[in-house]
Amino acid sequence: QGDSRDIDSETKTVCPFCGVGCQVSVKIKEGRVKSVEGINGPANEGRLCVKGRFGFDYIHHPHRLTKPLIRRDDAPDKGLNVDPANPFTHFREATWEEALDRAAHGLADLRSYYGGTSVAGFGSAKCTNEEAYLFQKFIRQGFKHNNVDHCTRLCHASSVAALMENVGSGAVTATFNEIENADVAIVIGSNPTENHPVAATFFKQFAKRGGELIIMDPRGTAMKRHATHMLQFRPGTDVALLNAIMNVIVEEKLYDRQYIEGFTEGFFEFRDHIRAFTPERMSELCGIEPEVIRDVARRFAGARAGMIFWGMGISQHIHGTDNSRCLISLALLCGHVGRPGTGLHPLRGQNNVQGASDAGLIPQVMPDYQPVTDVEVRELFKHIWRGTEIQAQPGLTVVEIMDRVYRGEIRGMYILGENPAMSDPDVEHARKALAKLDHLVVQDIFLTETANYADVILPAAAMPEKTGTVTNTNRQVQMMRAALPAPGEAREDWQVIVDLARRIGLDWDYDDPREIFDEMKMSMRSLHHITWKRLEAESAVTYPCSGPDDPGQAVVFGDGFPRRAGRAKFTPARVTPPAEVPDENFPMVLTTGRQLEHWHTGSMTRRASVLDAVEPEANCSLHPSTLRRLGVEPGGMVRLVTRRGALEVMARADRAVAPDMVFLPFAYVEAAANILTNPALDPFGKIPEFKYSAVRVEAVEDR
Ligand code: SF4
Repeated sequence: QGDSRDIDSETKTVCPFCGVGCQVSVKIKEGRVKSVEGINGPANEGRLCVKGRFGFDYIHHPHRLTKPLIRRDDAPDKGLNVDPANPFTHFREATWEEALDRAAHGLADLRSYYGGTSVAGFGSAKCTNEEAYLFQKFIRQGFKHNNVDHCTRLCHASSVAALMENVGSGAVTATFNEIENADVAIVIGSNPTENHPVAATFFKQFAKRGGELIIMDPRGTAMKRHATHMLQFRPGTDVALLNAIMNVIVEEKLYDRQYIEGFTEGFFEFRDHIRAFTPERMSELCGIEPEVIRDVARRFAGARAGMIFWGMGISQHIHGTDNSRCLISLALLCGHVGRPGTGLHPLRGQNNVQGASDAGLIPQVMPDYQPVTDVEVRELFKHIWRGTEIQAQPGLTVVEIMDRVYRGEIRGMYILGENPAMSDPDVEHARKALAKLDHLVVQDIFLTETANYADVILPAAAMPEKTGTVTNTNRQVQMMRAALPAPGEAREDWQVIVDLARRIGLDWDYDDPREIFDEMKMSMRSLHHITWKRLEAESAVTYPCSGPDDPGQAVVFGDGFPRRAGRAKFTPARVTPPAEVPDENFPMVLTTGRQLEHWHTGSMTRRASVLDAVEPEANCSLHPSTLRRLGVEPGGMVRLVTRRGALEVMARADRAVAPDMVFLPFAYVEAAANILTNPALDPFGKIPEFKYSAVRVEAVEDR
């Protein structure tokens, strides 16, 4: 641990990994991170998980990009270079001037020859709010369309679609810390012990002091040890289970009539719809006994204060929006919104996915979720952006953009801090698409799998090297401060975006991220009363915020919703089967997710020495009985085969996984989970069905 005599500097900033947004103190000695400690941020209250405490040394990895790179003229056809000893072999170093000119002119030339829609952009939830704002402005102003998106599409797009539709706001209605005021909490489709570890500590404390913790998940999670109820339902049957719970609440008249009359609309249609979903009928589908369904329904409806937390187990389905609609209806039925200890909380993934979404890095909406289809919104931005016409046509989403790239309709891309060559479903399709691009500009901290396909690579500062604001899952806008300079010639993303913008003909004159933040405030009501100066002094302010001294509201919508007549809406959901179901060729179910030690596509954590030492090898989890049936010992190799592809990976025995399931983490390039996943999309959120693919598991003879 840091000792003031042993360090050169100490900086308060925010953890760069998950959406909990823990505040940290980073101690520097001789230009390197010596230690990281949790400090008293509003979300973490001094706590940290293993990634926050031991995961920062990725920034010192020898493979950091420190100079701009340009693809060599004699490089072979674009593809994944799998030679870890020579990762840079297809690129040559360049000056910033040459690289920026090459990057910008390539994009501008495509715009001239083929029109603006020949270029699309993926921004990043690993950037600050100011950088996310600038990136979407770069595409919208520079190329005159809305084809700009980021990884929210792959995590909670369906949750946001349902929340916008039924509640009128895409953010959480209560911070996760509000669980201390709840009696009952449902955690569904989420494994917070691994994915939101510090939030999980608050959940465990809640259980310890007698709160009823109800876990619902097809995979048994570590948190089930703390739960009063563990409902391990069949994968893909979320709507059946949730509708059955709500059927009980309706039939037994356990709902909060006064709340429904005062704050909602659509109840009577919903009530008629839900009557068909009896626990007996749904039990066959979801695999949970009717009496258990009844018990959970009575406990949640009877609670004084109840909360619902969910993760990507809910959202990453072709019925992800329906899943979220059910959770919203469940909370509304019971009046569990708008009071202390109540609320709806989709646990956000990346440390700034909330902020990047708020900043408009979404194809359908401008900053603060203002629809591009609304003429008044377009007029507002035309005014702020000095005459820029905003296109009324909502843009394409991540997977749709990659499809257009594959078909040759999009010829150029600017990808900042995203890694679609690992993160897209059916990733071989995405890789083939990337290889077809006439011009690809990648801005990142490492030579990611996606950067392998680039024409120009621009080296960026990592989050501990940046200053700017980020917003966590709790709606807490926090000040991120640079703890040390970026290595070599790497630069902060906002500076690079500005330089590219000027080169494609935009009249931009930002000199400091606070100027960008001030511009954001012109269009974003969510930032009212939140100033750069306040954030410098207070480090965090929650939105919405009612005045200069208000720390912000932990719980919202106590007096109505930002919808017509202030009412939230019940939207009925029908049971929809997954896009593909097991058959004799692919008899099991594949589900994917994270591990505690590794973060998303692994570009950071697999270069963090402690984290990679703890989890060095690609692995999957199978039930011991499945391993026995296959004749594979724990630690042996299995081959996973889906309709998209196949890979070999080490198998672990895990009783938490049902015998007909396999769980596969997606952080490992050598066994990239998305080679297997299904690109079928939820029709509303356009999120892929990462959580359900039909798979065959085979033993591999030799290891
Ligand atoms: Fe970082 Fe999330 Fe861990 Fe907190 S819980 S230290 S934000 S990874």
